[in-house]
Amino acid sequence: MSNFHFKPPTTLREATELVEHGLASVEDLADLAKVAARYAVAVTPDVAALIDPDDPQDPIARQYIPSAEELVVQTNEKPDPIGDDAHSPVSGIVHRYPDRVLFKLVHVCAVYCRFCFRREMSGPGKATALTQGAYDNALAYIRAHSEIWEVILTGGDPLMLSPRRLGEIMADLAAIDHVRIIRIHTRVPVAEPARISGEMVAALKVRGATTWVALHANHVRELTSKARAACAAIVDAGIPMVSQSVLLRGVNDDAATLEALMRGFVECRIKPYYLHHGDLAPGTSHLRTTLEEGQAIMRALHGRVSGLCQPDYVVDIPGGHGKAPAGPNYLSPEDSFSQEREQPSQKRYRIVDYCGDVHLYPPEP
Ligand code: SF4
Repeated sequence: MSNFHFKPPTTLREATELVEHGLASVEDLADLAKVAARYAVAVTPDVAALIDPDDPQDPIARQYIPSAEELVVQTNEKPDPIGDDAHSPVSGIVHRYPDRVLFKLVHVCAVYCRFCFRREMSGPGKATALTQGAYDNALAYIRAHSEIWEVILTGGDPLMLSPRRLGEIMADLAAIDHVRIIRIHTRVPVAEPARISGEMVAALKVRGATTWVALHANHVRELTSKARAACAAIVDAGIPMVSQSVLLRGVNDDAATLEALMRGFVECRIKPYYLHHGDLAPGTSHLRTTLEEGQAIMRALHGRVSGLCQPDYVVDIPGGHGKAPAGPNYLSPEDSFSQEREQPSQKRYRIVDYCGDVHLYPPEP
């Protein structure tokens, strides 16, 4: 690996800047400019410093540096791939499951991931945040729905807000009696760890509700010492953390890479929560695996790490039907004869152990 720890002074947003800093080739400039005109680009100095410009397969570059492949849109890819719009009663709110809502406060992120499932919401010419009127309406909706126990602040990245504004929003939500949990989805501790200041951590804590922070990272190299320190500041403040990752071709689509990432999370006191199958977002097919590949990787991971390091592999059902566990399955009926026995206790199953060996359950007496 070459010495690639250079750091540009500011966030790179233009194709020309990526070329200038050696993160894209001049031959690709015209295509990358087309991509950047459609989908937002942002590579923070911290992320740029992680990229090896001499490695054409670099797993960090693949997540953040635009590619001409994004101009290829498959017929099954949709601008709203997980169907947020079908469950949006008021602007900024997605109410898909009874007890929780997504509250999409801002449409900006520190970095723009090339596989983002909300990539059509952010970028050139798009609104950057909810207006005050839309915010008030969204709050009124949450207040009027007593079944809402958990509010998930997402976007965009809510930690792009100032600590002052975030603190006000946390207080507004915590003042609603039935809102008990406020969960914040963020990539900031990885993309711009310096934003996790003492003021930001203080803003995350609020009287009247419990805060959880879900960190999005996809490769262990993203868990730098600065990122780890940012997460430690959050956890040390008594705020529990979980992880979210996306299974990405050429980034983390093998068990050893995922193992290193999951161990890294647990070392940071972050419980692995979700491994998302890649959503059908426009221009992202080069980054998606198949579901069968995902299941095989999860099966291999099961044999390598403890339950503490296991995320749930989930797929969002297009059309807004929510998440479903995507397997793999370790249990199947022994045979149809067994299932036809009258006594449930007589039924037997084939069960796969962590080495891949198959056993019968319950075993022969
Ligand atoms: S940080 Fe999240 S919302 Fe922002 S671009 Fe990445 S995946 Fe999309």
